[in-house]
Amino acid sequence: TLKAEGVFKTFDDGRLNLDVLRDINLEVARGERIAIVGSSGSGKSTLLHILGGLDAPTKGEVWVTGQQMSALTDKERGQLRNKALGFVYQFHHLLPEFSAVENVAMPLLIRRTPMVEAKRIAAELLDRVGLGQRLEHKPGELSGGERQRAAVARALVTRPACVLADEPTGNLDSKTADRVFELMLELNQELGTSLIVVTHDLRLAAKMDRTLTIDSGALVNPAS
Ligand code: ATP
Ligand code: MG
Repeated sequence: TLKAEGVFKTFDDGRLNLDVLRDINLEVARGERIAIVGSSGSGKSTLLHILGGLDAPTKGEVWVTGQQMSALTDKERGQLRNKALGFVYQFHHLLPEFSAVENVAMPLLIRRTPMVEAKRIAAELLDRVGLGQRLEHKPGELSGGERQRAAVARALVTRPACVLADEPTGNLDSKTADRVFELMLELNQELGTSLIVVTHDLRLAAKMDRTLTIDSGALVNPAS
């Protein structure tokens, strides 16, 4: 589903040269659930951005559903991202002026699903995450946990091959975090999507198929 080979990332601002990722190799199988843990600044978000095609590696290659990211134009990369990937962030990144159902329908509208159909699918998924009574609420009218559940629904609405989540439960209390996390696992199984989650919560990481530890930009566990 997703593969990284010999990925390096260096940020060079002319004065100092930061090796943020060093020789990352990993392969994510279909439906596989992977946790990425590591201390602050170790390169987790940078890795997720590169796996998701939001940023390019300095060296090395990434494949998403068999497509080599560097071989694509920006436009093709954007289309592949919309088609094959879903993203969840620590802060929901929902659009404030749109309702919950419109926010969740957005990735479908981008790929030209007709409005009525998109909203129907979005409403179904929102119902699934317990927000069936909150369809018309704007993000500002939802609680933190509700917003995060809406963000999870938005990431999954296109049934992507892989969901990339960067501390999706990072700003939730532990009980709400558990519920949002369980929901992600449940939907990932149901839809057969792979899941890569960056988390500081080792208890949540333990629920995944495997955990990768990143230390100063390098994976500590043997690559697999
Ligand atoms: P956290 O747990 O705090 O979110 P992280 O593991 O996600 O940390 P990254 O955001 O990947 O860490 O950052 C890794 C390192 O790369 C940090 O030292 C950061 O300062 C540096 N870095 C990230 N983005 C850039 C950038 N655009 N330019 C220069 N340096 C950057
Ligand atoms: Mg980060």
